Amino acid sequence: MGDRAAVLADLAAVLPDGALVADSHIVEAYRWDRADMVVPGTPLAVVRATCTADVQATLRVAAAHRVPVVPRGAGTGLSGGSTAVDGCITLSTVGMRRIRVDPAAMVAVVEPGLLNVEVKDAAREHGLWYPPDPSSFEICSIGGNLATNAGGLCCVKYGVTTDYVLGMEVVLADGSAVRLGGRTIKDVAGYDLKRLFVGSEGTLGIVTEATLRLRPPPPPATTLVATFPDVIAAGGAVTEIVGRVRPAALELMDRTAIRAVEDRTRMGLDRSCGALLLGRSDAGGAQAAAEVKVMERACEQAGADYVASTDDQDEGEQLMAARRMAIPAVERLGTVLIEDVGVPIPRIPELVAGVEAVAARRATLIAVIGHAGDGNFHPLVTFDRHDPDAVERAQIAFAEVMEVALALGGTISGEHGIGTLKRAWLGPQLGEGVLDLSRRIKQALDPLGILNPGKAL
Ligand SMILES: Cc1cc2nc3c(=O)[nH]c(=O)nc-3n(C[C@H](O)[C@H](O)[C@H](O)COP(=O)(O)OP(=O)(O)OC[C@H]3O[C@@H](n4cnc5c(N)ncnc54)[C@H](O)[C@@H]3O)c2cc1C
Repeated sequence: MGDRAAVLADLAAVLPDGALVADSHIVEAYRWDRADMVVPGTPLAVVRATCTADVQATLRVAAAHRVPVVPRGAGTGLSGGSTAVDGCITLSTVGMRRIRVDPAAMVAVVEPGLLNVEVKDAAREHGLWYPPDPSSFEICSIGGNLATNAGGLCCVKYGVTTDYVLGMEVVLADGSAVRLGGRTIKDVAGYDLKRLFVGSEGTLGIVTEATLRLRPPPPPATTLVATFPDVIAAGGAVTEIVGRVRPAALELMDRTAIRAVEDRTRMGLDRSCGALLLGRSDAGGAQAAAEVKVMERACEQAGADYVASTDDQDEGEQLMAARRMAIPAVERLGTVLIEDVGVPIPRIPELVAGVEAVAARRATLIAVIGHAGDGNFHPLVTFDRHDPDAVERAQIAFAEVMEVALALGGTISGEHGIGTLKRAWLGPQLGEGVLDLSRRIKQALDPLGILNPGKAL
């Protein structure tokens, strides 16, 4: 690892004024992402890049001194992906904010620092829509979305981030820049390398630009709300709905999450129900009415004790906002280890039953929320971090929930990524052969191992 003073001097020589930050008070703010149970290292310095050349210059210096580089967007990640490692350069791309919308080609060419919401807003100005909508869409960057292949609420119908990436510019570990993909909708020339980089959590290269596909916006949505005596009944309704229609969103909250959200919003959610399901149809007109009818019937047959729907856009948005608020609301109950497990749709009731069993066995509060229509759930393992016994039980529960998902043929991460938090369970999911193949790809692209070391693999 390079000599600190020499690294700083070399960075200062190649970066524009203001890009290099070594003040320890400022650097401190770049140590964590939102996975605050991960113990972070301390960066040597932070580079606030404003263009591709800054990223290239930083990587050339890092490679010359063999200093680790931790790419960082808005720091809203939930897996410790942008958590600092000791002596690293934290490379922030939030200052890279250029965007061009080409309405005729229905694409937006964006730099990584724009917030997801800003890309949506820019598309809307041209009568277009950028669908991927993580619950954090107002606070997370497009660079982070690309690096984690972020999902969200409408992904059950419209797909995840990678489905909207036509092309990318990526800076590699040696500082060279490559352009992958392009602007065409179909493109099978060469390996699909852009898909390799999407979701690679900053371990293979730094995303400096992306060409994102836009769509015409859908008609206004009809929103269905149903309450159930328990989560398992709600899980049954989800299985039935997804087998019959393609909802524009299908989201679930259990009793603990409902109460936490209601405590925060006072919007009148039923605190006594066991689970709440939110479904949406944006098919428009008679088709939307038919889809909502199917969802209503599925809920009733699964034992819902209340089912209603609304065409009122404000009311529908309020309900979806309540769901998006679930993680911060539950975080007020204690420290939270956030799971991101996914299972095949028919196994949803078994997953939620398995999570309940873990919570009871480990005497630990686990609130359950999720993008139910994708089979992707976020059991929120909640505990008092000042009670060592509670911490130990929570950590065991965190592991056991992932084991439940794997036993059901599922995944340990549907959208948040592996980061540092879930690395120990990647091997059990992928198997030694795939893990070894992944390490060889990493070795080929980053032979010095300087890009986000200790993350994802
Ligand atoms: C309340 C809340 C709700 C959330 N809901 C969702 C949800 O519904 N769906 C979902 O998918 N996620 C969700 N998240 C998680 C998080 O917002 C996403 O993972 C998001 O994509 C992270 O973006 P970021 O800009 O904050 O990235 P960061 O946290 O800064 O980084 C995330 C990863 O991307 C890498 N990275 C960042 N920028 C670059 C770049 N330019 N090039 C290469 N690598 C880079 C980092 O090294 C790290 O590995 C939620 C988070 C919160 C706090």
